[in-house]
Amino acid sequence: MKSELEIGIIGAGPAGVFAALSVKETNENTEVTVFDWQEPLTTLLPTGGGRCNFSYFETDIKTFASYYPRGSKFILSALTRFSMNDTVDYFEKIGIKSYVQSDNRIFPISDSAKKTAEKLLARGNKLGVKFIQQRVSHIFHDGENFIISTYEKDYRFKKLILATGGKNFKLARALKHKIITPALTLAPLEIAEKEYYELSGLTLKDVWVKVYYDNKKLLNLAGNILFTKNSISGPLIFKISSCCVYEKYTSENPLELQINLAGQNYTYIDNFIKDFRINSPKTTIKNSFGAFCPKNLFEKILKKEEIDGTKQISQMTNKEKEIILENLTEFKLHVTGKVIGTGIVTAGGVDTDEINPTTMESKIISGLFFAGEMINVDGFTGGFNLQNCWSTAHLAAISLLQEKK
Ligand SMILES: Cc1cc2nc3c(=O)[nH]c(=O)nc-3n(C[C@H](O)[C@H](O)[C@H](O)COP(=O)(O)OP(=O)(O)OC[C@H]3O[C@@H](n4cnc5c(N)ncnc54)[C@H](O)[C@@H]3O)c2cc1C
Repeated sequence: MKSELEIGIIGAGPAGVFAALSVKETNENTEVTVFDWQEPLTTLLPTGGGRCNFSYFETDIKTFASYYPRGSKFILSALTRFSMNDTVDYFEKIGIKSYVQSDNRIFPISDSAKKTAEKLLARGNKLGVKFIQQRVSHIFHDGENFIISTYEKDYRFKKLILATGGKNFKLARALKHKIITPALTLAPLEIAEKEYYELSGLTLKDVWVKVYYDNKKLLNLAGNILFTKNSISGPLIFKISSCCVYEKYTSENPLELQINLAGQNYTYIDNFIKDFRINSPKTTIKNSFGAFCPKNLFEKILKKEEIDGTKQISQMTNKEKEIILENLTEFKLHVTGKVIGTGIVTAGGVDTDEINPTTMESKIISGLFFAGEMINVDGFTGGFNLQNCWSTAHLAAISLLQEKK
């Protein structure tokens, strides 16, 4: 055992690499060594479908923090010290220009996660960050130093940043940190009403959805829902998967979604259809509700409810009208689970009660810092999870340097 190096970082994902850059940008003379068995920033490559949605345009820090269903309070200090604006400015400074998409997601102008990774790593190399491509198998704190072992050798550090992501908590556990049960989130969901999978490709735009579980209303959200060939998906569904990640919904006890397809209330549609019956009595039922529902979905609803859509609207019975209006205002889907093998971000992780939110330092072992997805903080889709990495990594880095003095 030798190498009296200064700072060790385990994990060369976005959090680990950004922590290394932040240390070096603040004090170039500090020696930083980053360990990962993978090439640095391998995990950045698939982000944003390869385009790298690295942040979200929202300048109010409290509003930004509200997009994290777990850790919204905890992350406030980190976002304050290194915000979306700071990220965009820093990226620009190192040659990563960016743009804001119409839905407020921020991407590099190159639309390339690979080029973004290359720029970040080029900066790291210029600043002299040392990368060691080895897995850390054991970790130990002897009261003063961290001794970390790879299969090749042992290293000793006074200060350590753990940034091992949402899949590996062994090292945090070895350092006596409590891990909140990890669960994958941001996933497409399966529904009991499989006949709607035939509508694959259909998007319901800006619909309001109420979510119930065990007869309790959990959520009231708006957004887009996409039907795929084996799921419902899209940002709104990812949000629901995130908010309900710890609910134990199954086919026996599903989540119930009540979707307002029409964007109008019952009375409004009732009045509309009264006039419509007078003005266009010969129009078929299936062609009378185009203003309130996509036609292919409406035909499926009629089929399911055993209503003859070829009948003229003037012949629609009161009972049929009620069934139709109920579907248009409270269309029900029952969520039975996540699509197996999906989910891109981990909810759960190192308990935030054991980390100082103003420094990212462990409350259990001094000199130990955390950054990124391994902390029990996770955001919705939109760039929030990468912003969590940049902000917590930066805060860990500057806090660690301040403590060094
Ligand atoms: C397909 C996909 C798309 C995504 N798209 C987006 C997006 O567009 N925007 C967004 O904000 N978020 C996105 N995310 C989430 C985002 O990628 C993660 O939140 C982020 O990568 C977490 O970074 P991290 O550095 O904390 O952890 P990770 O990226 O998981 O990195 C941890 C690193 O630690 C290493 N490691 C672990 N244990 C050890 C060990 N014992 N020894 C050595 N090394 C170790 C791992 O090999 C890994 O490289 C996406 C995720 C996925 C899967």
